[in-house]
Amino acid sequence: MSQHARDHFFPGVPSAAFVALASALALASSLLTTGPGRAAPADDAAAAAAKPAAAKCDRSKFRIILDVGHTKESYGAMSARYVPEFEFNLNLGRKIEERLKADGFAETYLMVTEGKARPSLMRRVAVANKRGADLFLSIHHDSVPGIYNESWEFEGKKRPFNDLFAGYSVFVSQQNAQYRESLRFAKLVGNAMASQDLQFARQYDQWFMGKFQRELLDHDAGVYRYDQLIVLKMTRMPAVLLESGSIINRDEEVVMASQAHKDKVSTAVTTAAAEYCDTRTAAPPQVSQPQAQPKTSQPKPRTLQAQPKPQAATRAAARKR
Ligand SMILES: [Zn+2]
Repeated sequence: MSQHARDHFFPGVPSAAFVALASALALASSLLTTGPGRAAPADDAAAAAAKPAAAKCDRSKFRIILDVGHTKESYGAMSARYVPEFEFNLNLGRKIEERLKADGFAETYLMVTEGKARPSLMRRVAVANKRGADLFLSIHHDSVPGIYNESWEFEGKKRPFNDLFAGYSVFVSQQNAQYRESLRFAKLVGNAMASQDLQFARQYDQWFMGKFQRELLDHDAGVYRYDQLIVLKMTRMPAVLLESGSIINRDEEVVMASQAHKDKVSTAVTTAAAEYCDTRTAAPPQVSQPQAQPKTSQPKPRTLQAQPKPQAATRAAARKR
């Protein structure tokens, strides 16, 4: 997510108090989450038992869009060692793409966008809705609100860091036209991450997150509700955003850059996509945009004039729910 967006939002509250509170909560969270491995969610077994054998999907035709969060120009957060989030997102996105394709998801599309933040978000939505897909997954790495940052020296320069918060998180928007399917995929992703012995970030449902406080929708999978995210609310297919971990956390940044971690996340996403694909009901949710684009000589729109249209469509769909 954007570092800029997270700055300047706890006016008048002493940061020491916040840090003390955050420490206490982080400790409480760690106490809650350490110990013997997390038990598999009980409903996994039930879901597996209920899985209709005939529902197996054809992976070669199942379309997944992997959205690389941010752009080179508008890079998102900055890590504790001054590496832009976009680089982490791109590296992880490539790894996930490789893994999905190796496992038969040939129609996986890695979406890399250029330019400034907001136009790039609109462009992602426009491209996704035009292509159509069965799933949309946006890949990010997390940071913390600027007020929580401490300072350290790295390569001769003072850099912000925060070692209190760590973990992945999964977000869905209830404004997505296919919210239920989004949530279903989000839970599969979160549970698959947990199965890789990864912990989710506990802080998002806490009051001290201010305007970034989110409703925790699933306490096992680490799925939070984030209605306003453009790439989640305006895409017409089930859409999920994954924060792989915190790059402002000095230890976790090193983990995020490791091959081992990228392998874990790639495995988790591929497992989740396979389960989602296999457990879709007989009448799979339709991608609202027709897929076959007529091959005419009409020039492709280079800008986003059509943008208000999908938004209106999404709102209309939301009203229908
Ligand atoms: Zn981001």
